[in-house]
Amino acid sequence: MSCLRPGLSDTGKNKFRPVGRFAPTPSGPLHFGSLFTAVCSWLDIRSRGGLWYLRLDDHDKLRNRPGSAGYILRALESHGLFWDGAVAHSNLTESYHEAWQSLVRSGRSYACRCSRKNLVKGKPYPGTCAGLILCEGNLSWRLKIDPLAETVWTDRLQGECFVSLAKTTGDFIIKRRDGFFAYHLTTVIDDASLGVNSVMRGMDLLESTAEQIELRKALHIPIPEYAHLPVLVNSAGQKLSKQTFAAPLDVTRASENLAAVLRLLGLFAFLDRPEKMLEWAIAHWSPQIAVLRQKSISGFG
Ligand SMILES: [Zn+2]
Repeated sequence: MSCLRPGLSDTGKNKFRPVGRFAPTPSGPLHFGSLFTAVCSWLDIRSRGGLWYLRLDDHDKLRNRPGSAGYILRALESHGLFWDGAVAHSNLTESYHEAWQSLVRSGRSYACRCSRKNLVKGKPYPGTCAGLILCEGNLSWRLKIDPLAETVWTDRLQGECFVSLAKTTGDFIIKRRDGFFAYHLTTVIDDASLGVNSVMRGMDLLESTAEQIELRKALHIPIPEYAHLPVLVNSAGQKLSKQTFAAPLDVTRASENLAAVLRLLGLFAFLDRPEKMLEWAIAHWSPQIAVLRQKSISGFG
């Protein structure tokens, strides 16, 4: 998994109207790392006159936490990060089902009876069930990938990216044993239903991008432009996240939080109302900002 040389500029896309999204999981409050991603994505879309949607990634009901969705909405609003249209949800169960069925019919998806304890952690799925016809029991369903092919794309920030899924995940799960459709499938269908054609998110999701590109190809869904932002890491080198106990955003200090994000981008640091600060930042945003090419930014907690 690697990315080479800086991304290409956005010239030559005059007629392209970007449609982006921010898609948090309502499993807890936003933290500074999620604000960084949201602000960058919002500025990138707004500076090009595009649409920016808020989509709650809430298909996995086991991960959702009561009250989180409302907190996320309030946090975005207090920081002036208003979205277009209604809040979208991961609730397109019929479409997920149709997509999965079409992959089964075309021979791209097969049933797997392996449980986690049968597989080696950190190793790609070895294809144990690829040649079997299974129809009973607790089954997950996997997408068959080409073992010889690499997934390649030109990332707007990270340049040419190469991921060999055969070496990282192998055939990956699109429908889980517990009956839920997997994250990659719901993400592809949800984003396609909103017409999302520009995705900006963290470098930690690079491998997941490759999986989603392969799913899109298999489903004949157009592939959006991608831009992977550096992840913010703590002193132990861990990404800021709920799992690493990143502090929740203090929504009463929205202007200070925004100033901290903009300082990180090398833009500016004076305080005003969030809407004013963002208006200024739209005019000064560029995907060429040097810090955006980094893989990670350290010094957070
Ligand atoms: Zn299996």
